[in-house]
Amino acid sequence: MKIRELLKIYPILLSFEFFPPKNPESEGVLDETVSILKRFNPDFVSVTYGAGGSTREKSLHWTLNIKEKYGLNVMMHLTCIASSRNDIQAITKSLKERNIQNILALRGDPPEDIPDYAIKTDFQYADQLVDFLQERNSFSIGVAGYPEGHIEAPSLEKDIEYLKKKVDAGADFIITQIFFDNDYFYNFMDRIAQAGINTPIIPGIMPIVNIGQVQRFTQMCGATVPVHLLDRMHTMKPEDMINVGVEYAIEQCRELLDFGVAGLHFYTLNRNKATEMILMEIEGNIRS
Ligand code: FAD
Repeated sequence: MKIRELLKIYPILLSFEFFPPKNPESEGVLDETVSILKRFNPDFVSVTYGAGGSTREKSLHWTLNIKEKYGLNVMMHLTCIASSRNDIQAITKSLKERNIQNILALRGDPPEDIPDYAIKTDFQYADQLVDFLQERNSFSIGVAGYPEGHIEAPSLEKDIEYLKKKVDAGADFIITQIFFDNDYFYNFMDRIAQAGINTPIIPGIMPIVNIGQVQRFTQMCGATVPVHLLDRMHTMKPEDMINVGVEYAIEQCRELLDFGVAGLHFYTLNRNKATEMILMEIEGNIRS
């Protein structure tokens, strides 16, 4: 079902993000994760896509596999950097034929292993992909939003100007980059409302289960981890971190639900445990 329709029916959507596994062992892990998290009845799940089409076949395979094997509503991420119109046309044709109705339209990061990406690409920014997909009229289209501003953007203000272009091109909803301090999200909501964006925004949540991993991740995407949380994590044994990360995420989600968000999108990193622990506590607040 199209996410834009779901947003009209349900006040709060629940979704999980997965990435295509690299080897048979991690394929088993993802299968187990999906089968466990399915019990929370997500409104949709999503499968990421390597920039430049580097995971094209695997992303498509897992999108279809999760839909067919688990009967879940799946959104595929689609990046446009280093892609031609024909590349995008071919993949959207496959999605349409298999009745995949939702796409998260992204630019992606310039792939280091494709030196000629700038020459090859027919798309410079995600709004052009939204525009292209919109013309095909088959999908509900989501785009990425950045509560702390995208890492390349000169300012949050400028980044929101470009977000508006994605919305004006036809995006139905926005899923945010991870953030750990809700004040960034509240400020973002104020600023986008001032910019005339009324599109539903679904915050992206990533429970911290491993300090090293989160530091690598936040370095890449520019999200700020509160110092008090980092300090607390640094004093812990690795096996205790998940409890602190989950406790923090539960509080973060509760506040966001009280604020009145359109959904919660969990970056699962293909693991079920942390997301499951959080949902055991807050499921009633989502489905009430
Ligand atoms: P855009 O919206 O095009 O913005 C990119 C940058 O260009 C920003 O700094 C923006 O301010 C600027 N900009 C936009 N339009 C213009 C313009 N007209 N002129 C000048 N500057 C402009 N990456 C993947 O590779 N695969 C994934 O599956 C994936 N999933 C993601 C899911 C979510 C929810 C999020 C938040 C991010 C995801 N990413 C993924 C990361 C994303 O691809 C990167 O953050 C990428 O650098 C930007 O993509 P975008 O679609 O936001 O780009």
